[in-house]
Amino acid sequence: MLERRLHRGVAHACALLSDERLMSKKTCPMCEMDEILDHGDRLECATCGHEWTQDPAPEEAPAERVVKDAHGNVLADGDIVAMIKDIKLKGSSDVLKVGTKSRPIRLVDGDHEISCKMDGMAIALKACFVKKVQP
Ligand SMILES: [Zn+2]
Repeated sequence: MLERRLHRGVAHACALLSDERLMSKKTCPMCEMDEILDHGDRLECATCGHEWTQDPAPEEAPAERVVKDAHGNVLADGDIVAMIKDIKLKGSSDVLKVGTKSRPIRLVDGDHEISCKMDGMAIALKACFVKKVQP
């Protein structure tokens, strides 16, 4: 019970900070009040505490993602890159030496934008540690 009240307290504080989001006039299916807290994947009524899942928002077309290497060259799937510095591989004692070339890369979402093989190992790399090279 206490936990529940604390939770609502926190949620309400958020609502006060994000007035703009409340302007999108959703209403609570239970009490029809329009002070709705948006938690991303679910909505909560600030008035009665009813929670429900949000209708999937229309997907905005993701902005075309541009991945650039350390020199500002735009990378694409199938490019070959080479290390511009020695990188120690997480969780092993292997080091990718500067100049090591990759197999054709694949761009992926996330913090390490490049998925590829180097030295026979499948690795994820940050684009800022490589440069595009001719195959
Ligand atoms: Zn409600």
